[in-house]
Amino acid sequence: MRPESQIPTFAPMKNSNDTFKALISHCKEYGYVFPSSEVYDGLGAVYDYGPYGSELKNNIKQFWWSAMVKMHENIVGIDSAIFMHPKIWKASGHVDAFNDPLIDNMTSKKRYRADVLIEEYVDKIQAKIDKEVAKAAKRFGDAFNIEEFLSTNARVLANQEKIDTVMKRFTTATEAGDLAEMKQIIVDAEIACPESGSREWTDVRQFNLMFATEMGSLSAESNKIYLRPETAQGIFVNFLNVQKSSRQKIPFGIAQIGKAFRNEIVARQFIFRMREFEQMEMQFFVRPGEQKKWYDEWKSRRLAWHKALGSPAEKLQFYDHPNLAHYADAAVDIQFQFPFGFKELEGIHSRTDFDLAKHQEFSGKKMQYFDPEINENYVPYVVETSIGCDRTFLAVLSNAYCEEEVPNAKGGTDKRVVLKIPAPLAPVKVAVLPLVNRDGMPEKAGEIIDLLKYDFNTQRDDKQTIGKRYRRQDAIGTPYCVTVDTETLENDTVTLRERDSMEQVRLPIAELKAKIGEKVSLTELLKEL
Ligand code: ATP
Repeated sequence: MRPESQIPTFAPMKNSNDTFKALISHCKEYGYVFPSSEVYDGLGAVYDYGPYGSELKNNIKQFWWSAMVKMHENIVGIDSAIFMHPKIWKASGHVDAFNDPLIDNMTSKKRYRADVLIEEYVDKIQAKIDKEVAKAAKRFGDAFNIEEFLSTNARVLANQEKIDTVMKRFTTATEAGDLAEMKQIIVDAEIACPESGSREWTDVRQFNLMFATEMGSLSAESNKIYLRPETAQGIFVNFLNVQKSSRQKIPFGIAQIGKAFRNEIVARQFIFRMREFEQMEMQFFVRPGEQKKWYDEWKSRRLAWHKALGSPAEKLQFYDHPNLAHYADAAVDIQFQFPFGFKELEGIHSRTDFDLAKHQEFSGKKMQYFDPEINENYVPYVVETSIGCDRTFLAVLSNAYCEEEVPNAKGGTDKRVVLKIPAPLAPVKVAVLPLVNRDGMPEKAGEIIDLLKYDFNTQRDDKQTIGKRYRRQDAIGTPYCVTVDTETLENDTVTLRERDSMEQVRLPIAELKAKIGEKVSLTELLKEL
């Protein structure tokens, strides 16, 4: 068998926009993500997960669930219904205030979120500053002093002034819910429609993001119910049921993974912003006054989780919310550097007693906890961690997607696309490849699959040349390939090829399970927490 090179050389990076496009088409070609209802030309911002995508998504969920529920004695999980009593959404504020500011461009007829247009404008100016800094750093080399440059360069100062002015007006307008001012910011900043370049805008108006439907056979306002826009409320209204049935003492947490639905105004950027998506949320109930300690604690635990998932530290950052929601006393996003920039991946919010107190008020039922340690009844405070499963999926794939030039046997190079997904998350852990489809090799491959299938997701791959099969498994992200050849039939040994290094070792079939197992087990990731 031809050994592959052990040291891949890296191809020049595509720009991030091209990489993102390549990733999206890769997801479709290799069965990760398909546009929903594609034969009917798709449905905006709704996606289906294919055979490998659903495996990866399940593994992400399992890693999150294990990190929360398995690893903490004081966190338990639930699975509440999507449909809930409509009063819940009144109490939570979603009926009256779960709105986004919407604006239409009159020329292109395209609809935008006013806040996103402003944020993108600020990002563009920030990019100009970053470019100036990079240019100067190159020019001055070791002598470059970034603080001095930022505080003296005229172009940088002018751009920073633009950002500060817009952000100040934007913050005030958001806090006051002043939609006219939001439009005025767009007009004054001369923000143009990304599609048509036109600056003809309608007024800004509020748009509620909840999907409504009717329950029962009669269509009447009283039958109106909502598809939940977040999973958290299912946790709040079950707070006492869970606390009593699982005999938890404060502080304790309730975790849940489930679908959420939002009628997003602008749903671009693939699975980053969907109308149907999945959240992984954990509400941690604490004694009033102790929320700051737990907020800081969960910030650091969640960051550690993202790193264990394989995201490099430089692709993660905290972003403190400049405008706090009325119910929060602290809020931060964990942002990830997606191919289109740093964006929210997870929110960590200190929500005070807002939700439980509101449900107490609207339902007329007590939402209190008796704390035996201090002999007091109180409505607990809540620190929540709320992460999108689909955005995590996109983060994992953006980290993993890699195009490489690798030396081939003829002395030239081949291109390989490889998904370097952390092995414990990979959809298929091991592919078994009979070198040829005769001489007893397919049967031997079957025996190996039978041996491994109880512990790992396995796949038989017996079409085309062995090189092409390796490329296919690289593209799927399979961490191990086991090749059955003539020597296997003689002495029950196989070659085991590792995806990233492309190293091959020969070993007895009997050792495969232990060798693969130590690398693909979720336990290894959990130990990093
Ligand atoms: P954004 O500002 O991007 O709209 P958000 O602040 O409204 O997000 P949260 O309400 O805090 O989001 O929801 C928690 C998490 O759920 C987000 O961090 C994100 O990962 C995920 N999420 C929210 N909306 C969507 C969506 N439309 N599609 C996919 N994931 C989403």
